[in-house]
Amino acid sequence: MEAPLIFERLKENYTLQFFLDRHDPFYVLISTVLSQRTRDEVTQVATKRLFKRYDTPQDFATADVEDIEHLIRDVGFYRMKAPRVIQIASILLEKYDGEVPEDMDLLLDLPGVGRKTANCVLAYAFSRDVVAVDTHVHRISNRLGIVKTSNPEQTEESLKEVLPEDMWRDVNELFVSFGKEICRPISPKCGVCPIDDMCAKLGVNKSD
Ligand code: SF4
Repeated sequence: MEAPLIFERLKENYTLQFFLDRHDPFYVLISTVLSQRTRDEVTQVATKRLFKRYDTPQDFATADVEDIEHLIRDVGFYRMKAPRVIQIASILLEKYDGEVPEDMDLLLDLPGVGRKTANCVLAYAFSRDVVAVDTHVHRISNRLGIVKTSNPEQTEESLKEVLPEDMWRDVNELFVSFGKEICRPISPKCGVCPIDDMCAKLGVNKSD
């Protein structure tokens, strides 16, 4: 089944809803770092709480690490992430005049920023057509049979080959919502899946 057709059917069944309230690059960058291994709902609350106290890279660079720890205490690995966001803010001030660079390689140089985070920043803050691949996107794309890959980096490249560019940016939001509700890691709900008839179900245990 062709990937664009599957994607169109999914879009008819899901409303794209970006989980953050703000789209400015620094907010998107910091919240995406906080979101690693953390549920969106938790990230959203912690990000709001954090930005109520600190707002600009200048604020973050001079912040007290224990105060940040306290503000983001609900997110996963908060003790590691607290000094990291301070470090990111300091680097932005030192190297980029306090701006978030709109460049994949420069983003990847920042501490705690991998391809998925960098792609989220490029997509949601800079409206760039990129494919942000996390575990949901990787798993679902392979189950559907639209890619055959063994890691997220390969999935990113393969999805770019099978989907037109104007669909790239929506892949992450769409597949993440779908992956939480229907095509879950364990026990996917194939019986109520809107793309059941289009899916190769590769690697899916039939008894699930
Ligand atoms: S049919 Fe099952 S495996 Fe395929 S996308 Fe739907 S829930 Fe996932």
